[in-house]
Amino acid sequence: VEELMIRSEKMSISGQIAAGIAHEIRNPLTSIKGFLQLLQAGVRHKDKYYSIMLDEIEKMEKITSELLFLSKPVTDDRNIESIKNMIEDVVRLLQPQARMKNIDIVINCRKLDSILCDRTQIKQVLINIVKNAIEAMESPGEITIRVVSSESKVIVSIMDEGPGVSDDVLEKLGEPFFTTKKNGTGLGLLITKQILDRHHAKLTILKNAEKGSTFQLTFPK
Ligand code: ADP
Ligand code: MG
Repeated sequence: VEELMIRSEKMSISGQIAAGIAHEIRNPLTSIKGFLQLLQAGVRHKDKYYSIMLDEIEKMEKITSELLFLSKPVTDDRNIESIKNMIEDVVRLLQPQARMKNIDIVINCRKLDSILCDRTQIKQVLINIVKNAIEAMESPGEITIRVVSSESKVIVSIMDEGPGVSDDVLEKLGEPFFTTKKNGTGLGLLITKQILDRHHAKLTILKNAEKGSTFQLTFPK
């Protein structure tokens, strides 16, 4: 197994976001404006234009709601939380999406493992990573979530059977708006990284021996 790490930011995150918004919000706005002008001029095939405009608007909605999450004041509500319980909540939430792609999510975790954390935030981290795992898999298979703990730390591994993270993608992971998906926002891992930093936890990305990748979260106990 080869160990790979998320790169630390080059420009400040807020600077990158400000720059990114120009592209991510302005481009859809420009295209919506163009289509509206066409419609105003009385073109045919109106349905096609409406659906493109709706897609663009949905994309902006998604981005702005994720940006709001990033800008939320940090109100940590930390408690001792069962890892298993949080994982089960998240899996229940994402089960429909997994089932549609014939993906089984297997949880391998003792009941006892717990960490001091903000439950909502850590669930958001798990949602972001498990969602990416589901989205990465093009054919049926398994996602395994495993929890291992020692005296000083708890390690949560999310293993998928997707194509894995290529080296050039890895270099850009965690940069605001970096996505390889048609409907991606490229904010999921950025939010993840921010929450983990607050918890003094670490994100490590591993290449699986067979196929896919493993996203590993290491929490101090
Ligand atoms: P988004 O999911 O909106 O694209 P993320 O920040 O969650 O944004 O992820 C950024 C990119 O990282 C994805 O577009 C994808 O290329 C890559 N990635 C994330 N998780 C995985 C994974 N499990 N397998 C392969 N690639 C991944
Ligand atoms: Mg994502």
